[in-house]
Amino acid sequence: MNIVLLGIQGSGKGTLVQDLSKHLDFLLVSVGSSLRDEIATGSKLGKLIKSKMDKGELVDTNIVMDTINKKLSDNKKSIVIFDGFPRSREQADELDKICNVDLAIYLNLKKEDALKRIMNRLTCSKCGNITTRVKCPDLVCPVCNGKLTVRSDDTPEVANKRFEQYRLETEPLIKRYRESGVLVEIDASKTPNEVLKAVMKVIKWT
Ligand code: ADP
Repeated sequence: MNIVLLGIQGSGKGTLVQDLSKHLDFLLVSVGSSLRDEIATGSKLGKLIKSKMDKGELVDTNIVMDTINKKLSDNKKSIVIFDGFPRSREQADELDKICNVDLAIYLNLKKEDALKRIMNRLTCSKCGNITTRVKCPDLVCPVCNGKLTVRSDDTPEVANKRFEQYRLETEPLIKRYRESGVLVEIDASKTPNEVLKAVMKVIKWT
């Protein structure tokens, strides 16, 4: 089963996959974190990716597709979850060439709420755990004791650019997947646990 996660930045896609992994065995294809891994290597490609990311722009589709194909090449899992992909019509067309989308989970959240969450978000520099300033004011990761940091693209200016890119390029995919009959909308303003429960139910039905 191939599942795509759609939703504005800050709608909780990363938190959801983190929580789902405790209940479900799946291959996670998280484009954003794979791109951040490439940045961390300090490679030329990583520098190119960082320059795009820090401006709130999409990374070129050919780079994204290389990342995805690498992830899928030795996959043995029957469930694959794509987080942060596809983000444009071009990418959705590329995905259709590789596999069928069985389920598109749309985490629906208002832009104002998304911005509040992004401004509160902390990410562990060591294990990638996502948490908040409210939960971890000491900036220590509760999972691995690593240092919690603010993502370089989580500033109000860059977040607004990412929202605009989402509105123009990613939002039209909601209609596309609704029309193909695979879209399920989830109220993402609920707590992470409520969102998890709703999503688990949908996956069981599918
Ligand atoms: P968010 O969903 O909050 O933007 P991500 O970690 O998913 O967080 O993405 C961070 C950045 O990585 C994006 O702003 C973009 O620059 C790049 N990125 C992630 N996914 C894609 C994608 N599918 N296509 C192009 N660029 C991407």
